[in-house]
Amino acid sequence: MSKQYDYLFVGAGLYSAVFANLAKKAGKKCLVVEKKNHIAGNVYTYLEEGIHVHQYGAHIFHTNSKKVWDFLQDFAEFNRFTNSPVANYKGELYSMPFNMYTFNKMWGVVTPQEAEAKIAQQRREITGEPRNLEEQAISLVGRDIYEKLIKGYTEKQWGRDCKDLPAFIIKRLPVRLTFDNNYFNALYQGIPMGGYTKMVANMLEGIEVRLNTDYLEHKEELDALAEKVVYTGPIDAYFGYQLGYLQYRSVRFETETLDSPNFQGNAAVNYTDRETPFTRIIEHKWFQFGKDDNGNDVPKTIISREYSSEWKPGDEPYYPVNDQVNGELYGKYKALADREPNIIFGGRLGEYKYYDMDAVILSAMERFEKESV
Ligand code: UDP
Repeated sequence: MSKQYDYLFVGAGLYSAVFANLAKKAGKKCLVVEKKNHIAGNVYTYLEEGIHVHQYGAHIFHTNSKKVWDFLQDFAEFNRFTNSPVANYKGELYSMPFNMYTFNKMWGVVTPQEAEAKIAQQRREITGEPRNLEEQAISLVGRDIYEKLIKGYTEKQWGRDCKDLPAFIIKRLPVRLTFDNNYFNALYQGIPMGGYTKMVANMLEGIEVRLNTDYLEHKEELDALAEKVVYTGPIDAYFGYQLGYLQYRSVRFETETLDSPNFQGNAAVNYTDRETPFTRIIEHKWFQFGKDDNGNDVPKTIISREYSSEWKPGDEPYYPVNDQVNGELYGKYKALADREPNIIFGGRLGEYKYYDMDAVILSAMERFEKESV
């Protein structure tokens, strides 16, 4: 006898929303269960004072994939926001990512040749293939920038020494010998107007969603409802942590509404020294150019200070710690997962991967395509 639903989705974030949307269009019956009291996972935004607040941290959509970009156009209209964070090192302001403005401020160099020569000279201390984030950073931008703009921020963000972190994390950031402070090398970039929650709600339109429902607590009864499960929670939690805990970084936000229109003049300011306890301050209104959904200036502002911490049971997991030890443990969980024929593990937590939003969307699209062949 066939079951009531074709798919049960655990978690109402991007991976599930994309997959469920495609499945529904293909005539499949879908049920989404979500532990939290809202949809959209960590891209969730809520509206206050005319400002869409990114409750779980700044999400700036960017992609090089036309396939992903085209797919999203059915669910949201994107504004022209371009991410250009400012780094504040003990009151000195630097342009991010690393570009000619940064090099000029750091060294007084004026031409790309001078900047290149400076980096080349400082890079000499690294011989051979960089073995960790510190070596990778110095080899990309030299020691001065590493010390002022990378070391403190990274150690706060990850709670680990830069020598113990994988090099790939810093390769996310562009290094440019041009006056271009667009943080991303992406063809398409922007923030969905009206907020991410609305975009995800549009994806889930016509699909049954049960909020405040903890799958792992009701696993047997929920499994009985569907032919297949798409699980987007932490993979180690699914297996009852039987092989041990995977490590995650968690984030805590201190959010306040201020009765003034402009706190820092930019959406993101990174505090790159070691002593300031938070990593960055987000001023949410600048994701929408200080205007509300009707195009009027917002008189107040909302800011969030972001504090990073090691995840412990009960906390919200945000970032997988993709180092060697965790990679090996994940490999063992993955082997268990591969033995479960009717379960698909997806998304940042399900695959224990530092996915950007566009990569999550693409992976859900591709996984769904595999289902239908
Ligand atoms: N990073 C840094 N200084 C900065 C911003 C970023 O050293 O001012 C490094 C840090 O190691 C961080 C990584 O670059 O973990 C990736 O930063 P990104 O802003 O891409 O991370 P996310 O927005 O996902 O937290």
